[in-house]
Amino acid sequence: LFLALEGGDGAGKTTQAALLGAWLTALGCEAVLTREPGGTALGRVLREALLHGEDLDPRTEALLFATDRAHHVHSLVRPALERGAVVVTDRYIDSSLAYQGGARGLDEAEVRGLSRWATGDLLPDLTILLDLDPAVGARRREGAPDRMEREADAFHVRVRERFRALAAAEPDRYLVLDAARAPEELHAAIRERVSVLLPG
Ligand code: C5P
Ligand code: MG
Repeated sequence: LFLALEGGDGAGKTTQAALLGAWLTALGCEAVLTREPGGTALGRVLREALLHGEDLDPRTEALLFATDRAHHVHSLVRPALERGAVVVTDRYIDSSLAYQGGARGLDEAEVRGLSRWATGDLLPDLTILLDLDPAVGARRREGAPDRMEREADAFHVRVRERFRALAAAEPDRYLVLDAARAPEELHAAIRERVSVLLPG
């Protein structure tokens, strides 16, 4: 089972991934928690270049995120799924569609095609969107902002709108939650939806 958490910065994806992982482990599943960018050693190099390196044009940025994803899927996600683990990734294809597509303005069909080529068409069974007003997300942030977090408010508004539109277009494959709710309430809603998907 392959689950993705998506949403803007400060939406609480990392917290929900940890709660979900602990619950799955308690149920006796092998839970693999991972993230993009940076789920592998190469990914951590790419993450540093993407978030804290020189300015990049949108195509370069899209290719680096796709490179991270290709290696992540090949070396970590697919092997884990093949041995029966539940994989929970903090960000996946939808982040590329929302950030490099919706917010940076690259052609979304091209970004989607790039990502599907990079992953050999591996899509999550369920994508959990933690939907939050970007102004609230920005207030929750800690530490120095990365290159994307320094973008203007309008950028983050476009990201949010794109995520919501993606979810609305495929309601069966998304769970959309109001990320302003308490973490325990969000976790309960995620458990309810995921429990239906768990094998036997
Ligand atoms: O979620 P996390 O903080 O790890 O994401 C790292 C940064 O990369 C965030 O600022 C996020 O907005 C950005 N990002 C992006 N395009 C993606 C994935 C993440 O701009 N495809
Ligand atoms: Mg962040």
